[in-house]
Amino acid sequence: MAATPLDSAWEWLITNFSEFQLATVVTFVLHESVFFLSGFPSLLFERFGLFAKYKIQKKSNTSAYQNRCVMRLILYHVCVNLPVMIFSYPAFKFMGLRSSLPLPHWTVIVSQVLFYFILEDFIFYWGHRALHTKWLYKHVHSVHHEYATPFGLTSEYAHPAEILFLGFATVVGPALTGPHLFTLWLWMVLRVLETVEAHSGYHFPWSPSNFLPLYGGSDFHDYHHRVLYTKSGNYASTFVYMDWLFGTDKGYRKTKAIEGEEGKHL
Ligand SMILES: [Zn+2]
Ligand SMILES: [Zn+2]
Repeated sequence: MAATPLDSAWEWLITNFSEFQLATVVTFVLHESVFFLSGFPSLLFERFGLFAKYKIQKKSNTSAYQNRCVMRLILYHVCVNLPVMIFSYPAFKFMGLRSSLPLPHWTVIVSQVLFYFILEDFIFYWGHRALHTKWLYKHVHSVHHEYATPFGLTSEYAHPAEILFLGFATVVGPALTGPHLFTLWLWMVLRVLETVEAHSGYHFPWSPSNFLPLYGGSDFHDYHHRVLYTKSGNYASTFVYMDWLFGTDKGYRKTKAIEGEEGKHL
């Protein structure tokens, strides 16, 4: 079979970097690039009042408050995420991580990534519900909720203990399937884009929740941030069905129904 451009690019990567370098430093660089590039637009929209029509909350964060988030994120990413990536490499090897050619068939990649999304959402839902109990909220999760008006980059703004939990929920799926590094990267990129969008603070006509059934997105998660922590609900990360199944989206549904009614009278 003829090599595709993707195969050639992958071959270049595995010839020029060791698997350890790819799974740690290159993964870190990829994560930082995707996270900051996808997160900065909503920060700038909020700072310069762009797309105000699509902003979910009327309130905006001050520039100083936005900058504080960015500075802490850089600190946590370098001091927590990077060492975790380095020290967990043997665990990934044990899980069956591989980086050699051929790349997995696209049907394997798609089904694995879909499985990772469903499993992560399930684990995140229960972990997040636990984080909303009094003690854990006070000592851990309140950090993430410091930003009641989220913007893309606040998605990863959390207590280091929560960063570890988020990391755990993200790698359980790959651990079960023994992934190819390419699939792992694709999963990481999509998960980052998903959580950045959910925290963007903007609901556009082209937002994915308008097209993807069962997908939560920014409107769903923004509600979680603006309501008092004991009443917020909407605990799932990606989809809406866990909150629906366990009745933790009642407040959100009620608010949406009232907004809909108001809309009709306008
Ligand atoms: Zn929360
Ligand atoms: Zn959040």
